[in-house]
Amino acid sequence: MKSLEAFRDKELVQLLIEEIGRIAPPSVNLMEVCGGHTMAIQKAGLPSLLPPGIRLLSGPGCPVCVTSYDFIDQALALIRKEKVTITTYGDLIRVPGSGGNLAEARALGADIRVVYSLLEAIEMARKEPQKEIVFLGIGFETTAPATAAGLDLAVKEKLRNFSVFSAHKVMIPAMDALLEQGSPIHGYICPGHVSAITGSEVYRHLPSRFGACCVISGFEAVDILESILMLVKQYVSHEPVVEIQYRRVVRPEGNLKARELMDKYFELKDDWWRGLGVIPYSGLKIRPEYAAWNAEEKFGMQAVENKEPPGCICGLVLKGVKTPADCPLFANICQPSDPVGACMVSSEGACHAHYLYREDG
Ligand code: SF4
Repeated sequence: MKSLEAFRDKELVQLLIEEIGRIAPPSVNLMEVCGGHTMAIQKAGLPSLLPPGIRLLSGPGCPVCVTSYDFIDQALALIRKEKVTITTYGDLIRVPGSGGNLAEARALGADIRVVYSLLEAIEMARKEPQKEIVFLGIGFETTAPATAAGLDLAVKEKLRNFSVFSAHKVMIPAMDALLEQGSPIHGYICPGHVSAITGSEVYRHLPSRFGACCVISGFEAVDILESILMLVKQYVSHEPVVEIQYRRVVRPEGNLKARELMDKYFELKDDWWRGLGVIPYSGLKIRPEYAAWNAEEKFGMQAVENKEPPGCICGLVLKGVKTPADCPLFANICQPSDPVGACMVSSEGACHAHYLYREDG
């Protein structure tokens, strides 16, 4: 494997930009689906280096950005139950629900603990049998296998005081929905980490059904520019296909073991996405045979109405229809230190990344 420095080489970056400029069409819209790509693109300042006709749109691939506010509201209701401890990754505790966020609930005394790995939550369940440890599972095919691995441990150990409240989603139905709903996308910079699990075959229908160009990309500046060059070549030749740029990580067949584990513990369900509405078979729920480890079943959780914050246009940003700068609240009322919408919470969120690396900042 090449050193990562080779993927940040300034001369190579310059060469790729020149080559893209040489063949770029007057206008083409490319969506980076993954929040990690959004962050990397903004950090490297790529939008200002590319020819003006190449428009990069941020998609719905930041786990925090697509997590609904009613999920937060349900977690806030859950934490009021006796003996319940909520464990979660850090960014989620600042996502606003309609009645505040988890960080505020924690400040008022609720037992909400930030973990870096689900194994920490499992360990808490082992050491504190008097508590009910609930893990909030969010994210896509990148994080769902780890949640499935945690469930596997809990089931094998018969760890009955551990459960998962799942908001996990799968990415491909959302990419389909964007095109079906008319988002102005000519090509996808396909998510690198998701594809390491799914493989490349899952994108095969996008060129044939929608004419969408697809390149699975790595996360360094050279990776992303090479992916853009590959996409532009596909677009100008009118030959959309699926290609892998991130060959050092992604295999066409993906990670079979991780997928098996996901399939063992999760099944698909219709799920709600910010800006896209309910998408069939796009969410992951715990299979009925593992209901004892499903927090929704265990605590009889009820769905609540999903309310979006007034004035927030996150949904349109995630569809590629608007940019963060189009939002009247951007960088004044809504800032990373006090986010109004989910896209400003995580550093992988489109609004947060634009805020950090904006030219007038
Ligand atoms: S700037 Fe804030 S309020 Fe506006 S779309 Fe982004 S997250 Fe929502």
